[in-house]
Amino acid sequence: MSKKLLLKDAHIEGIRYFETYRKQGGYTAAEKALKMTPDEILEEVKVSGLRGRGGAGFPTGMKWSFLAKPEGVPRHLVVNADESEPGTFKDRYLMEFLPHLLIEGMLISSYCLGSNVSYIYIRGEYSWIPDILEEAIEEAKAAGFLGKNILGTGFDLEIYVQRGGGAYICGEETALLESLEGKRGNPRLKPPFPAVKGLWERPTVVNNVESIAAIVPIIDITGAEYAKIGVGRSTGTKLISACGNINKPGVYEIDMTITVEEFIYSEEYCGGIKDGKRLKACIPGGSSVPIVPANLLLKTVNGEPRYMNYESLADGGFATGTMMGSGGFIVLDEDQCIVEHTMTLARFYNHESCGQCTPCREGTGWMYKILKKIEKGEGKMEDIDLLWDIQRKIEGNTICPLGDAAAWPVAAAIRHFRDEFEWHIKNPELSQTQNYGLAHY
Ligand code: SF4
Repeated sequence: MSKKLLLKDAHIEGIRYFETYRKQGGYTAAEKALKMTPDEILEEVKVSGLRGRGGAGFPTGMKWSFLAKPEGVPRHLVVNADESEPGTFKDRYLMEFLPHLLIEGMLISSYCLGSNVSYIYIRGEYSWIPDILEEAIEEAKAAGFLGKNILGTGFDLEIYVQRGGGAYICGEETALLESLEGKRGNPRLKPPFPAVKGLWERPTVVNNVESIAAIVPIIDITGAEYAKIGVGRSTGTKLISACGNINKPGVYEIDMTITVEEFIYSEEYCGGIKDGKRLKACIPGGSSVPIVPANLLLKTVNGEPRYMNYESLADGGFATGTMMGSGGFIVLDEDQCIVEHTMTLARFYNHESCGQCTPCREGTGWMYKILKKIEKGEGKMEDIDLLWDIQRKIEGNTICPLGDAAAWPVAAAIRHFRDEFEWHIKNPELSQTQNYGLAHY
């Protein structure tokens, strides 16, 4: 059984309220942190090996150490709660059931970074959660853990919750900052990075909800102890939101030493494939990461078991591997059609493109149109090569990672499931009435 750090108290009734959270030992990590210096906290975060839980997996301690500290210029912490990646809903769970864990993590992080005004930018569709967060903020303030002169330390902190308008692109950190400033959420060219010029051109750290919540157990048990959990550079625990054709969809906390097979089939986690069907493929890190067929998902190319961690999921790169990403684990059974699935994703990315750069704006539209044509049985063989060519021209040629996120699923689908594309083209009548999965199993 995986060790629980973030969700250990999630089952306790009333844990979302200050009184119950406090009774379970809540805010003791904050009390401990406020007696430390900011540099000591930063060192603990570095030693912990925590990697950003939003998708990129960049070391959090290193990101914090890049924060510029010009004299007299305010700094900010912004929590990225714009969780819009299809298949990802773990931050929603944290905010809905453990809002004080996030507030406590923000208090420790803000103190470390020197932010006196911090923000939570939350996805517009999570319409009921800002009220939960604001209530938790008020409770924390009433108990002296927010506001002026917190616990007599002289440190002040205000936290504000800002609702997004429902655009996926606002999960990209610079688009988020634009939106937080009241502008259209268009990603900015980098450099300068937010650590130097972020919110209102002030040094800013933008971190995912889960990353900030993880600061609480790191301070609680120390960075060194946190680093002992997990394996290699995949330290600590990770939240996985599991969905698709499985028996037990939900949010699970894993310690990154379990295998993918165990995660899918054990009763503790997904409980196996629904209706006893066969596993076809999985997208383990939210819709933006490459899809992996079952044979490569359960074993690496060397025949070793594939583990639920950053390194093992990547397994040498995109040809055979994928990414841990945001931990949005989407399982597809044998009945699913990869062409239809890829077309649905292409439509999503085309709709969500902000339109600033040509490869993304035009390329996502063309990929969707071609995939739609193939799925309807109206494609030609050369369309597959055209699709491949378009995704190659998007990848790495855009302002923000949405372009890559749109290209990778198409590349992986063609690489691993070319036969399905060809089947649709060779069987125009059948492909209008059946999908590849149902026709082949
Ligand atoms: Fe906008 Fe797409 Fe360019 Fe990102 S990659 S800036 S979403 S057009």
